[in-house]
Amino acid sequence: MTAENAVRAASIVAALLFILSLAGLSRHETAKAGNAFGIAGMAIALAATIGLASRRSSATGIALIVVAMVIGAAIGIWRARRVEMTGMPELIAVLHSFVGLAAVLVGWNGYLSVEARGGEQTEVAGALLRIHSAEVFIGVFIGGVTLTGSIVAFGKLSGRIRSNPLMLPGRTLLNLTALAAFAVLTVLFVLRPGRGLLIAVTVLALALGWHLVASIGGGDMPVVVSMLNSYSGWAAAASGFLLDNDLLIVTGALVGSSGAYLSYIMCRAMNRSFLSVIAGGFGNEGGAAVDRDYGDHSEISPEDAATLLLDADSVVITPGYGMAVAQAQYPVAELTRKLREHGVTVRFGIHPVAGRLPGHMNVLLAEAKLPYDIVLEMDEINDDFPDTSVVLVIGANDTVNPAAIDDPGSPIAGMPVLHVWEAEHVIVFKRSMSTGYAGVQNPLFFRDNTTMLFGDAKERVEDILRAL
Ligand code: NDP
Repeated sequence: MTAENAVRAASIVAALLFILSLAGLSRHETAKAGNAFGIAGMAIALAATIGLASRRSSATGIALIVVAMVIGAAIGIWRARRVEMTGMPELIAVLHSFVGLAAVLVGWNGYLSVEARGGEQTEVAGALLRIHSAEVFIGVFIGGVTLTGSIVAFGKLSGRIRSNPLMLPGRTLLNLTALAAFAVLTVLFVLRPGRGLLIAVTVLALALGWHLVASIGGGDMPVVVSMLNSYSGWAAAASGFLLDNDLLIVTGALVGSSGAYLSYIMCRAMNRSFLSVIAGGFGNEGGAAVDRDYGDHSEISPEDAATLLLDADSVVITPGYGMAVAQAQYPVAELTRKLREHGVTVRFGIHPVAGRLPGHMNVLLAEAKLPYDIVLEMDEINDDFPDTSVVLVIGANDTVNPAAIDDPGSPIAGMPVLHVWEAEHVIVFKRSMSTGYAGVQNPLFFRDNTTMLFGDAKERVEDILRAL
């Protein structure tokens, strides 16, 4: 077997491992195996790519690749070890921006090494040159949009940029004009490749990426995170074409299409169409709702909460972003164990956009080793609330807001939510009466069957454990 064939075979094995990895990651029970497949696939992919590079480049070239990899790996390990679970979404947004940047650099490199050298003088000529030019142009465009889009998403998720949508006049028209300009520039570039056109598309893509994400409201951020995930996949696939790396094409397409499917699931979870997300503005015009007088709220002590829980037949826990902030999953798991020992049925209701990351709550609960069979999706548990004695809302807010159903004027009207208020008692764990991510006040807190348990969720759950 020649070295080229060995690399090809390794690529096929790695691609299969990536597919197995995705399949594994779709279920709790198999997620660990999925991760292991992914790691194995990536190790094989790296070995194959370096093996291929060693046949094409000089010893200095290889040494440079190894040095870059060591530096990159050191920074990656350092960041991954330090990041808090609450900082994960921002980290992912930053990583997407790197993929975008890489695609822009690979595109420019492709142009400088082929088109800028007169094309015909290199081994890429005739129709192949046209295809190459199209790859360069499209790669730079997708990469540019991903780069600035991810940077703005990072800013919004980390609170460095306000999550309010940027409402430029005629913003949809601006986006459409940018897309039309891209199409025209692509044709011009394929006919006559030139540096000016490539600079123009780079600037256009960077501006479009920035504008696309800046004009999306805080309420739609879950869709944006998965959308950028998808873009980063397509950017990688575009680089794969330019670098003649089949594995990068396959991997990029896998990430691109699974990200697109995830965006579709997130849109469905929020009852939004993909186009209306792009058009922007959802979930931030909350002023009217915040100012409304909902009456008084009542509070409960950890001791009374413990009594209520011991008397309950069935308890549902609906966690949200505050559980991640407080790192309350461990005492919550302990509470679950104690109540179950006492004969109380305990289950979890997970909203698809709870937290700040798709699957955020599932990861936390798995970390605390909760049995998977008591962790249910929103659709699986929503009909059971009328038969539930006590619901513990732990650091969730937007995902349990009845205004989404009752109040057509609410900025989050139409978003499916967990119907926790239909239970006999609801206990809400949070630190104050402040709003959730979408900036909308929650009438649940003022309902007769709701009591507030103020303070850090972890400390309050531990108080209940002591009282039990
Ligand atoms: P929210 O973000 O709506 O609310 C979280 C609540 O947790 C806050 O009201 C806060 O209240 C409380 N909280 C914060 N820290 C603590 C603490 N230490 N102890 C106790 N409570 C705490 O949460 P949800 O999970 O219900 O909703 C998720 C929101 O995030 C949705 O709007 C969703 O669209 C959005 N989003 C989701 C993404 C995803 O992919 N899942 C990505 C980006 C955004 P207080 O300050 O009073 O304590």
